[in-house]
Amino acid sequence: MFRKILIANRGEIALRVICACKELGIRTVAVYSEADRHSLHVRFADEAVCIGPAKSARSYLDIPAVISAAEVTGADAIHPGYGFLSENADFAEVCEISNIRFIGPPPDVTRLMGVKDKARAAMAHAGVPTLPGSEGVVASAEEALSIAGGIGYPVIIKASAGGGGRGMRIVREPADLPPLFTQAQQEALASFSSPDVYLEKYLPAPRHIEFQVLADNHGRVEVFCERECSIQRRHQKLIEESPSPRVTPELRLEIASKLAEAMRAVGYTNAGTVEFLMDEEGRLYFIEVNARIQVEHPITEIVTGIDLVKGQLLLAAGERMPAVVPQSPLAPRGHAIECRINAENPETFAPSPGRITAFNLPGGPGVRVDTAAHTDCVIPPYYDSLIAKLITSGRSRAEAIARMNRALEMFVVEGIHTSIPLHQRILADPDFQAGCFDTTFVNRFLRENQRNAASKA
Ligand code: ADP
Repeated sequence: MFRKILIANRGEIALRVICACKELGIRTVAVYSEADRHSLHVRFADEAVCIGPAKSARSYLDIPAVISAAEVTGADAIHPGYGFLSENADFAEVCEISNIRFIGPPPDVTRLMGVKDKARAAMAHAGVPTLPGSEGVVASAEEALSIAGGIGYPVIIKASAGGGGRGMRIVREPADLPPLFTQAQQEALASFSSPDVYLEKYLPAPRHIEFQVLADNHGRVEVFCERECSIQRRHQKLIEESPSPRVTPELRLEIASKLAEAMRAVGYTNAGTVEFLMDEEGRLYFIEVNARIQVEHPITEIVTGIDLVKGQLLLAAGERMPAVVPQSPLAPRGHAIECRINAENPETFAPSPGRITAFNLPGGPGVRVDTAAHTDCVIPPYYDSLIAKLITSGRSRAEAIARMNRALEMFVVEGIHTSIPLHQRILADPDFQAGCFDTTFVNRFLRENQRNAASKA
C-alpha cells in the first residue's frame, strides 16, 4: 500500500480523498493555489505545498509544479480527483516516468476513452449498444450529408476530443448541415486543438443514465447499480439519484454484463463511469466513458455500501477485486439522491463568489454532506461553483425525497447565493416526484416558472 498520497485537487473532492487516506492510514499531501491558502483540504492534510497563483493554469493544471510537490514531499502516488488533470493522459504518463503511481486507468486507456469516436467504436465492437452514427471521424460536409441521410434526421455532430458539452451541433434537416458542420469543426479546433468530429443519431428527449465501474489490475471488472442524471442544465448535472426510476433489474443486468466484457476488452483499470442515453422506449445507448471518479459518486456508495475512493486507492495499489468489492454491487439497497449546491444565483445562474457569513449543515438520519465550505470561508471566483453536495437516502425514493426536502430547509448558507431554492422548487414538482423526466426537464421547468412569474406580475 502507498505510504503517502498527494492530492492534485481542491475543495470537497480533495477532502473526500483525504478521508479515504486517513481511514487507510496513508499520509496525505495537499497542493493549493494562493487563493486556497486557508482551505480545509490544506488544514486536514498532513503536509501542504503551495503550487502557484490563483489561476488554475498556473497552479492546479501546472504539471511540473504538481510533480515537484510530489517529489519534494516523497509522495508515492497522486490522486487527481475530478476535473483539472484527472483525464490528462500526458500527466498520468509523467507520473509514471517520475516513479509516482497515478491513481486512475493506464494513460493509453485514458487516451482511447478521450477520443470519443474511438471509444464508441471500441464499445460497439464489444457488444455495448451505441446510437446509429458514423464509423469514426467524418472528413467533410458531403460525407456527413450522406451518412445523415442513412441514419435519418435529427443528427448531432460531436467533437471527437469533446467535453463539457462543447463542439456539439444538432442538425434537423439536410440544408442546415454544411454550415453547422463547419461551425462544429471550428469550435472543436478552438476548444480541443483538434477539428475532428463524428456523427450520431440525435435523441430529442433522452434520459441520462450512467454506470459506475471498478476494475482491478488482474482482469476483474465490477459494474455498479446505475445513476440517473437527467436533471441537468446546459449539460451540467444538478440532481442525481440511484437507482434510476426507469431502469429495470433485467436491463441493469444486461447492460452490466456487456459493460464488464467491454471494459475488460479495452484493458480498463481503476474507477470509471460509462454514460448512456435512454430513448423513449427505454433502450440504452453508450455515449462516453469518464475515466475518473465523478462528482456524483456518493449516491452509488450509499446504495451499494462500497467506498469508491478507498476502492480506487486499493486497486491502484494492486489489490484484487474481492478485497474491494466482496459481492456484486448491482442490486441497490434503498435509494439515494444528490443535490449539487452551487455558489450561484438560483434565478440567473450567475456565479456568486464571496464570503459565507453563516453556515449550518443539515444532519440526522440518511443525510451526508460532502463539502469544504464553512462559516467565514471565502468562495473564490476562479474555480467551479460547486460548494457542497447534499446527499440523502432512504428505504424508498419517497423517503429520500422527504429527507432531501427537510435537509435543504435546514441547510443555511448566508453571504452568497446558492442553488438551494432551485432544488427546493424542482423537488416540489409533481413530474419530478413521479420520476417522469428527461434531460429537457430543467429547461421546460425554468420556462414555465418564468411564465408564471410574468403572469403574476
Ligand atoms: P461531453 O463530453 O461534452 O459532456 P457527451 O457525449 O457526454 O459530451 O454529451 C453531453 C450531453 O449532450 C448528454 O448528457 C446529452 O444531454 C447530450 N447529448 C449527447 N449526445 C446526444 C445524442 N446523440 N442525442 C441527444 N442528446 C445528446
